[in-house]
Amino acid sequence: MPRPARVVVIGAGIGGLAAACALRRAGAEVSVHEQAPAIREVGAGIQITPNGVKALRGLGLEEGILRLGFRPKAIWGLDGISGREMFRTPLEDSPRLYGAPYLQVHRADLQALLMQGAAGGAISLGQRCAGIRTEGAVAVARFDDGTEVEADLVVGADGIHSAVRRATFGNEPARYTGTMCWRGIVPFERPDYDLVAPCTTVWNGPHGHVVTYWIRGGTGVNIVAVHETAAWQDESWSARSTREEMMAAYPGWNPRMLALLDKAEDIFKWGLFDREPMPRWSKGRVTLLGDAAHAMLPFLSQGAAMALEDGYVLGREIGRAGTEGVEAALAAYEAARVPRTSQVLLRARAQGRKNHLTSPSARLWRDAVYFIKGVLNPQKTGLGGDWLYEHDVTAHS
Ligand SMILES: Cc1cc2nc3c(=O)[nH]c(=O)nc-3n(C[C@H](O)[C@H](O)[C@H](O)COP(=O)(O)OP(=O)(O)OC[C@H]3O[C@@H](n4cnc5c(N)ncnc54)[C@H](O)[C@@H]3O)c2cc1C
Repeated sequence: MPRPARVVVIGAGIGGLAAACALRRAGAEVSVHEQAPAIREVGAGIQITPNGVKALRGLGLEEGILRLGFRPKAIWGLDGISGREMFRTPLEDSPRLYGAPYLQVHRADLQALLMQGAAGGAISLGQRCAGIRTEGAVAVARFDDGTEVEADLVVGADGIHSAVRRATFGNEPARYTGTMCWRGIVPFERPDYDLVAPCTTVWNGPHGHVVTYWIRGGTGVNIVAVHETAAWQDESWSARSTREEMMAAYPGWNPRMLALLDKAEDIFKWGLFDREPMPRWSKGRVTLLGDAAHAMLPFLSQGAAMALEDGYVLGREIGRAGTEGVEAALAAYEAARVPRTSQVLLRARAQGRKNHLTSPSARLWRDAVYFIKGVLNPQKTGLGGDWLYEHDVTAHS
């Protein structure tokens, strides 16, 4: 009987854990190596669009995510200054239209769920990957502490500043996109849907937009406040910030939105970086997944969804091909994933430009198009994500 494929996953973020779940289900021997001394997500929410929920279904985690998720009624676009409705994309019918609901969860809850799914794979903490080499049919990952581990396949799921990517494809730094964002949560003892609609609310204004949505059964509102600024001053990837600093970026914006921002707690700021799409993710016995492969702007809420889909497909292909067919499996994985993720990456960039328009005539035109699309088919207005949500990664071969 052929022996199971030995797979080393670098990074225990959403992508790495999803890959570990999928590979384990496919019968591979998996070990996950994470640089951080503890598995901890940022204290913020995350939207899991229906395509992401379907990927979680393929990982055997649908029941858990349905239990955790808040179901918004719509994606609701508002003018950031006047509060006028720009578009409303209904989401309540998502299970019928897209085959799964649209959900919003706390990142820590998603991570805990993925940890359960990946638990059969050993997770080593405090192990920072420092290099990769391929020796024939064996890939070797080297860690900061001097240890090495051999595998049939090494998966770089180590995020936007991926060491695996650098070691395999060279050092091309991520691009600062001219936008940064603040993230925070407003705690609520009980939901108040008069104050904050049970929707993904997107306030669009010149040089920025602010997204708010409920998480944890309506006991918190997650805030992502995006702002254009020429330079990202902080050397760190993310840094602690204050309510005052965040609110100063939105002078004259709608008082209802500002009143919510004024209640946010635990505020961090992030520089938003992305990369050009890569034509190839694999070399020999090494491949990439998630942000390491296709770091994108968060404006279509797809980074984690793409990482979940990547993980599912990688597991499926390795399961099909087995130890003997790792390189063929990687070719099939890329063929399935590179075109879709490249398209999403470019569309996310374009959505940012659309959200932040400054010229009154361009804004008028954008809003007229939203209006007409909304009349013709409300699923296609606003972010126009229906083509993303329809995709069922578990149904494609
Ligand atoms: C403001 C904002 C809002 C977002 N909202 C959404 C959303 O609503 N929906 C959505 O789908 N996506 C969203 N995203 C995108 C999403 O968060 C990311 O795409 C996703 O978390 C990427 O997961 P990952 O596992 O690829 O990378 P990461 O989450 O970055 O995980 C990488 C892991 O690798 C570890 N690591 C790094 N280097 C090494 C090393 N050398 N050795 C070992 N371990 C290493 C890290 O410590 C980390 O644990 C958002 C992003 C931002 C910035």
